[in-house]
Amino acid sequence: MDKILLSKTGKLQVPEHPVIPFIEGDGVGAEITPATQSIMHAVVHKAYKGARSIAWKEVLAGEKAFRTTGSWLPDDTMQAFREYRVGIKGPLTTPVGGGIRSLNVALRQELDLFVCLRPVRWFRGVASPLKEPSLVDMYVFRENTEDIYAGIEWEQGTPQAARVLDFLTREMGVTKIRFPETSAFGVKPVSRQGSQRLVRAAIEYALLKKHPSVTLVHKGNIMKFTEGGFKNWGYELAEEAFSGQVFTMNQYQRIKEQKGKVQADAALEEAKSSGLLLIQDVIADAFLQNTLLRPRDYSVIATLNLNGDYISDQLAAMVGGIGIAPGANINYLSGHALFEATHGTAPDIAGKNQVNPCSLLLSGAMMLEYLGWSEASHLIHTTLESLFEDGYATHDLARFMPNGTSLSTTEFRDKVLERVAML
Ligand code: NAD
Repeated sequence: MDKILLSKTGKLQVPEHPVIPFIEGDGVGAEITPATQSIMHAVVHKAYKGARSIAWKEVLAGEKAFRTTGSWLPDDTMQAFREYRVGIKGPLTTPVGGGIRSLNVALRQELDLFVCLRPVRWFRGVASPLKEPSLVDMYVFRENTEDIYAGIEWEQGTPQAARVLDFLTREMGVTKIRFPETSAFGVKPVSRQGSQRLVRAAIEYALLKKHPSVTLVHKGNIMKFTEGGFKNWGYELAEEAFSGQVFTMNQYQRIKEQKGKVQADAALEEAKSSGLLLIQDVIADAFLQNTLLRPRDYSVIATLNLNGDYISDQLAAMVGGIGIAPGANINYLSGHALFEATHGTAPDIAGKNQVNPCSLLLSGAMMLEYLGWSEASHLIHTTLESLFEDGYATHDLARFMPNGTSLSTTEFRDKVLERVAML
């Protein structure tokens, strides 16, 4: 069995026929996963004529795992992702009650997949609420392991919440809790290490793919030590580790203070014209507004966990919604990566042959790109674009297209396969 390895220099070593573990997923997973696999098989075959192929290995998680093994997330599944390094998954039901808060969170934590990468691009033909959706070309690097999202919280009315309140008021001298007796409490850990490994991944990605900027998105104006820390550590890392390759808005500020605005503007222009990567920052609320008004100002985005959650979904909605938004959870240090449909199990349409497979399919395209199989990845993008331009899509997208033809999941899959065969 061919495994993906990591070289001593940290580069992925991908065999020609790698084993890729996959989780089918609950609900619509049973429809989107086989559709995605058949299209991925077709593009890989088209691009490499049999010299490369994927050896799929099913691993269980979610309802299917629970039915078969009594565990929502069997150890064998974790072991397979650890061992084979790169995998893909359909959506999973969040178990209600019981020990597991979320299977997705458990997978991310177990493999320390610290980046949630969500690329956002517009496909010609897809309806968008923006005037110029073609200007959207963004890559959200969301920190995946820290922040208020880490799930460290205590329920109101419990002895634990009372102890936290006691500690805060007596030992830490906190006086700002408005309704102390009826408060629940959460903790927001944000570290220099966690922030810098995320920002490093974003900068390296931007340099590799020749993107013009990395924007640190935060609420450091209010949460000075956590979100403000993220911004400061991000700038610090950029200037220390990428000196000569980047120009930061911190540098701009320093020049402005020392030499005035004219000189600072000139330095910024000089940096841009010499191809340096611009590192800037923006407050999260302004960012959300700006993405609608001036999408061309943003390219690679680095942000904390909770901000990233909101931002990813807003950006997805700007170019067609969750049915078409791909995503991946990656540890760039170990090479572990899990590509996934970003939507849920869609129980309202499960089994009806209506679901849009594009979120998982485009995640599959991201996976191919990650493996270095760009030619096959590119075929998925060009095929989807040509279908959308002709108005062919599943109902969620086709209903908003002026020339839309609504196709079922299997009809859409067959159209994709037909076009790939014609290329
Ligand atoms: P959902 O994403 O499953 O559905 C929201 C709405 O969007 C529904 O109307 C659904 O029909 C529609 N939709 C979603 N994906 C679609 C697609 N590909 N094509 C067409 N329409 C699509 O969110 P939900 O209903 O809040 O969650 C259902 C379950 O999924 C819950 O158990 C939730 O915890 C879980 N969930 C899992 C993930 C994941 O595994 N990554 C993500 C979100 C929610």
